[in-house]
Amino acid sequence: MKKVRTRFAPSPTGYMHIGNLRTALFTYLIAKKNGGDFILRIEDTDRERYVEGAVDVIYDTLRECGLQWDEGPDIGGPVGPYVQSERMELFKPYAEQLVEKGEAYYCFCDKERLEEVKAIQEASGIMPMYDRHCRDLSKEEVRAKLDAGVPYVIRQKVPLDGEVTFHDELYGDITVPCSTLDDQILIKTDGMPTYNFANVVDDHLMGITHVVRGNEYLASAPKYELLYRAFGWEVPQYIHVEHIMKDKQHKLAKRDGDASFQDLMAKGYLKEAVLNYIALLGWAPKGEEEIFSLEELIDEFDVGGLSKSPAVFDPLKLRAINAKYIKKLAPEEFLGYAEPYIRQSVKRQDVDISKIAALLQDRTEIFTDIPETVDFIDSLPEYEPSLYCHKKMKTNEENSLETLKAVLPVLESIPQESWNEETLHEKLFELIAQMGVKNGIVLWPLRVAVSGKAFTPGGGIEICAIIGREDSLERVKKGIGKLS
Ligand code: GLU
Repeated sequence: MKKVRTRFAPSPTGYMHIGNLRTALFTYLIAKKNGGDFILRIEDTDRERYVEGAVDVIYDTLRECGLQWDEGPDIGGPVGPYVQSERMELFKPYAEQLVEKGEAYYCFCDKERLEEVKAIQEASGIMPMYDRHCRDLSKEEVRAKLDAGVPYVIRQKVPLDGEVTFHDELYGDITVPCSTLDDQILIKTDGMPTYNFANVVDDHLMGITHVVRGNEYLASAPKYELLYRAFGWEVPQYIHVEHIMKDKQHKLAKRDGDASFQDLMAKGYLKEAVLNYIALLGWAPKGEEEIFSLEELIDEFDVGGLSKSPAVFDPLKLRAINAKYIKKLAPEEFLGYAEPYIRQSVKRQDVDISKIAALLQDRTEIFTDIPETVDFIDSLPEYEPSLYCHKKMKTNEENSLETLKAVLPVLESIPQESWNEETLHEKLFELIAQMGVKNGIVLWPLRVAVSGKAFTPGGGIEICAIIGREDSLERVKKGIGKLS
């Protein structure tokens, strides 16, 4: 059996769309599942799209996600160079081989002629294609033009009739009539290859066995198939994956904001959660379990689980998965992530950030939610007295006023040195027992008074412990004032 070799071949655009990252992930998983090699090839020949520093975005993203390549531009390998622009000299002899075999030909048509042909075709409603004007030039004619230095391209000689069938692991056999395929350019006037030619030659020279790519390449696949056959090379297994959609009609685009790995990191997601989630976009595990580490994905992944229908990016599901990953963090790890977000709204220095973090861990879905969640710690927000009314707790403005009046002396009786969660708990539960009421009758008004919010990390007792004696007393007094 041939060793499995897969490649991720991104173009350095300065941006890692999650669809690209998903391609990298599937590519990596196929290699690792089969004990194979995962190769990184940078396809940087489109100079117009070239962005400074963009290759680092690729390296950094893959590394952060743990998708370590076995061969690539920075670490080398037996079939380098791994940067397409450094391979440019290599392709022309392959195109010349095809000319020799009668599978490609020199084309001397100039731009003006090609534009004229195109205009005529468009005017008569025909799909614009090269009209094969140079396809049957005699050897002598070609020689004469080459000797005269007439600029030329080399074109693929697609069969004039018949069909071509290629196989995709997801879509099965796809057959198209050759008459629909253009005699595409393989080598441009400057001697450099087109992308469509370079990727076939590169994949062959690099011994690639499986190609995972977006299904925008499906239309080109028949021409690739013909090129492999023309060379007599083994065709890799193709896996064309569906787009990631924003909704049923629209692809998830850069402007949508959630489309790149960097966008999601900036929004406060954990990279492990993002990687887990994107694995589920277009791939279904066999069982019910959906939470997988990269190691587990290697075991679980199976091309048969890939879907032919487009996956819709669901931010709520990503949040839910992220929350699961956050829950699993060790408390110190969580603190490390959460502290900068807590500090965005908690500026005071007299509070214990780790206590705040401890209250947050179980209820945080993404880190960027944190600043708003803890904004009441530095200062009590304005709130309506109606916040004291809670149907389930059976509280209203009247009984809340009574409660707060009873709570205040209890809090005042606790000296500064024993102001902590345990004492607060003990004293307030004594009060609850004395009053003979349900916990909520006391704890709900207390929470509202010290936070001014309906939803808080922790309840009134934990909040009092965090904000300290002085602030707690002041806030309860304010509550009494508001309700009186
Ligand atoms: N450089 C191409 C892209 O980023 C790769 C396509 C392929 O995987 O063949 O779209």
